[in-house]
Amino acid sequence: MIGSLDSTTWQKAMKAAIRDSLQLCQALGIDPNELPISVNGERQFPVFVPLEFLARMKHGDPFDPLLLQVIPRLGEDIASPDFTSDPVGDCNVEMAPGLLHKYEGRVLLIVSGACAVHCRYCFRRHYPYSTAPKSIEHWLPALRYVRNDPSIHEIILSGGDPLTVADPQLSNLVELLDEIPHLTRLRIHTRVPVVIPQRVDTNLCNWLAGSRLAKWVVLHINHAHEIDSAVVEAIHRLKATGTMVLNQSVLLRDVNDDLETLQELCERLVDIGVMPYYLHQLDRVAGASHFEALPSLGLTLMEELAKRLPGYAVPKYVAEIAGEPNKTPVAVSALSHLP
Ligand SMILES: *Cc1c(COP(=O)(O)O)cnc(C)c1O
Ligand code: SF4
Repeated sequence: MIGSLDSTTWQKAMKAAIRDSLQLCQALGIDPNELPISVNGERQFPVFVPLEFLARMKHGDPFDPLLLQVIPRLGEDIASPDFTSDPVGDCNVEMAPGLLHKYEGRVLLIVSGACAVHCRYCFRRHYPYSTAPKSIEHWLPALRYVRNDPSIHEIILSGGDPLTVADPQLSNLVELLDEIPHLTRLRIHTRVPVVIPQRVDTNLCNWLAGSRLAKWVVLHINHAHEIDSAVVEAIHRLKATGTMVLNQSVLLRDVNDDLETLQELCERLVDIGVMPYYLHQLDRVAGASHFEALPSLGLTLMEELAKRLPGYAVPKYVAEIAGEPNKTPVAVSALSHLP
């Protein structure tokens, strides 16, 4: 099975991705006027949808939960003073190019500005990624910072999406991380194994398995329909390298903000050996207000989920509040500080 996945396959999938909303509608047999499309939104943050992800959408359904995540709808044009370009305060915690040190003991390295899919609700649409470091020379100041701070035990490779970077560079980076004695954990935040599952190929598995660090991959899946057999196989290949696999989701209006959808997602995840980690309250990023589900609804959904599922299948419902020392649990007591 792995033998048939040569290392160029995922790069070809990136090249073949749909980059235009009309093309996307055409491929699904949808009239774009049914949505309708935000021309401004698309100009600001282009459409990017690999054919592998497209194949999991329902033909002819303008409200398909996967399609709604990737198509620029008119809601993106709504201007609201509460929805800003840096809602989580990341621009203030950059300690070296691409290195965010926001929480104790762990740092986040923006390894690439590129993603394998463009999710319309993402705060990435405004982050100054053109300045994101893209190769080993650019990562050296970040590596020096980590080497000089023995309180750091974990490095999170993030982005954009770190797995859009080619394996020789990633393997090189991980070798340098392996040499930092106080680092014990390598975490990778990625949506690529979900969107282009063939990315989890022999080369990737080799450098991952070769690292001395404890390895954690945090996927990003919002709906059970995102998980097809190729994704399940990719996750099995990841786990075979000794990597723990978790999932984070974002609570999204009309995509997964109902009990049946969330329950199906959590059950599907644990059935394939992936632990639900976080359910994020939407970051209030400009252009994404039409995705917001209120925390009061989120709390009700969480309460019902807890009744229906084993404890390990229930994610933590959190919000990212700028200046807080960790992701903040959404609780009834916090409702007055939230939308
Ligand atoms: C979310 C995040 C982390 C990781 O937080 P965990 O609660 O450990 O998952 C680390 N650094 C930054 C900048 C983050 O945004
Ligand atoms: S960073 Fe993640 S959520 Fe944002 S566009 Fe990229 S893949 Fe989607």
